[in-house]
Amino acid sequence: MGVSQTMRIGFSLLFTILIGSLVACAFMAYRSHKSIGRSVALLMCALIPPVIGNLVIIVSTNELLSTFGYYVYFLGMDLVMFALVHFTAEYCAIEWPNKVLRNLFYAVLAIDVFQYLLNPFFGQAFGTEAVMVEGLSYYRLLPYIGQTFHRLLDYSIFIGVLIVFLVKAIRTPRITAERYWLILVSMAAIGLWQTFYIFSRTPVDRSMIGYGVFGLLVYYFALRYRAMRLLDRMLATVASQMPEALYFFDSTGQCIWANNQGRELVHIGEEEFDRAPTLLRQMLSLTEEGDEWSTVRSIGTGDALKSYIVEKHAITDEKGRLAGYFVIVRDNTNEERKLRREMENAAHDSLTKVYNRAGYEVLLSRMDLSTSCMILLDIDFFKTVNDTYGHEMGDKILQKVANIALDRFRSDDRVSRIGGDEFVVLMTHSGQRQSELIGLRIQQINEGLADTSDGLPAVSISAGVAYGQDAGDSTELFNHADEALYETKRNGRNGYTIYGEQNAIPGQRGQSPLAPK
Ligand code: GH3
Ligand code: MG
Repeated sequence: MGVSQTMRIGFSLLFTILIGSLVACAFMAYRSHKSIGRSVALLMCALIPPVIGNLVIIVSTNELLSTFGYYVYFLGMDLVMFALVHFTAEYCAIEWPNKVLRNLFYAVLAIDVFQYLLNPFFGQAFGTEAVMVEGLSYYRLLPYIGQTFHRLLDYSIFIGVLIVFLVKAIRTPRITAERYWLILVSMAAIGLWQTFYIFSRTPVDRSMIGYGVFGLLVYYFALRYRAMRLLDRMLATVASQMPEALYFFDSTGQCIWANNQGRELVHIGEEEFDRAPTLLRQMLSLTEEGDEWSTVRSIGTGDALKSYIVEKHAITDEKGRLAGYFVIVRDNTNEERKLRREMENAAHDSLTKVYNRAGYEVLLSRMDLSTSCMILLDIDFFKTVNDTYGHEMGDKILQKVANIALDRFRSDDRVSRIGGDEFVVLMTHSGQRQSELIGLRIQQINEGLADTSDGLPAVSISAGVAYGQDAGDSTELFNHADEALYETKRNGRNGYTIYGEQNAIPGQRGQSPLAPK
């Protein structure tokens, strides 16, 4: 093989690769799920004939074959123009402004095809002339009037398409404009490259390289390319502004990125991501294994206590393979503190499960005074219980009192423990005085407390009863009940007194089991 042929062989190889790529892209574009796929496939297919035509021109050393190559090339270009306009309309989502313009476009393309068909008879479009290139004959194009028409037509269409892309790129919001700019810029670059070859009339016409490359770029940008740089930037910005600390790991467990919060949490700099996993594990004493988990961690004590929610999630690629992980650390300290405070202030007493003082206060504030009754209960000689049987036993007695009170009164009567051994029963919606019934209940409570079958020592309670209708406000109501209670205590305990009633000292009242002998 002589040196003279290397250039042509090189170009032929290049064209063959281009044709192969275009066929492959056309096939993939056709099978693409994107709606633009069909238009891209059409454009790819349209580009194949002129590239083949160009290849024929390059390899041919024979006039007839070269002329055939030129026909395939030029007619193929008309097909490309048709496909390009079709693609542009779809990709930029525009329609012909009116039917006349569209029909004019088809008509002019048809005229161009027609004039090429007349060329063998009239020779008005082009001819060829033999030149020697590297010792072999090459048939160079001799453009005539018809060829000028063809070029004007193709250029007008090409420029028209450029304008459409430009307008679209400018009018579209920045984020999505990238897809128009990319095609516009590659189209403009290739147009310039093309122009250079056509008008320089270099002996070997290789202008379809530009178009072939353009086709591949369109395929890539229209179907494959995702504005990743832009998306990356957007995601990174979102991730940086998250209040959570965020860490990304590759599938080997290497930390590849952390947001500001993530870097601050473990005190690392921009380039020290690889230290993050160890530091994080130490700081939060993480021992969790596996791809997906979430856990809560508290570090420090008292006011310095910090609480974190830690989550690890796996990231898989489109084929379900593990691509990496991310870990989110959410500072939960404030929520945790609030929760604890709420729990502390909760309305219930942890020992006896009845309402506590705070709960009682809420109940009292919501109570309709005129139809309510307050029963204040206090364990007799409770100190003695603690002293004799121990504090634990005392607690059990408190629980027993609460349970019996809950048991003896109606469920809408509210039992609260408002102090050490002091309980209140708030009876609401009791229209008339029910002193006898209340007396009976208190007596039943004391019977229950005297029963030692549960192993607890016998105790008793004293009660003071007051009606809301006798009091101006809840403080006065309490004072009445307290006075009545005091009266019971003074009169020997193990019984009750009803404020403001003559029979304040009921018959059942007796000695308390724990009364000093
Ligand atoms: P009185 O009959 O006059 O009421 O005599 P008392 O001994 O019951 O006297 P007081 O009501 O003043 O004593 C309440 C005692 O209750 C004092 C305290 O040791 C005890 N106490 C307060 N809270 C608790 C508790 O949660 N558990 C136990 N076991 N004892 C408590
Ligand atoms: Mg007491």
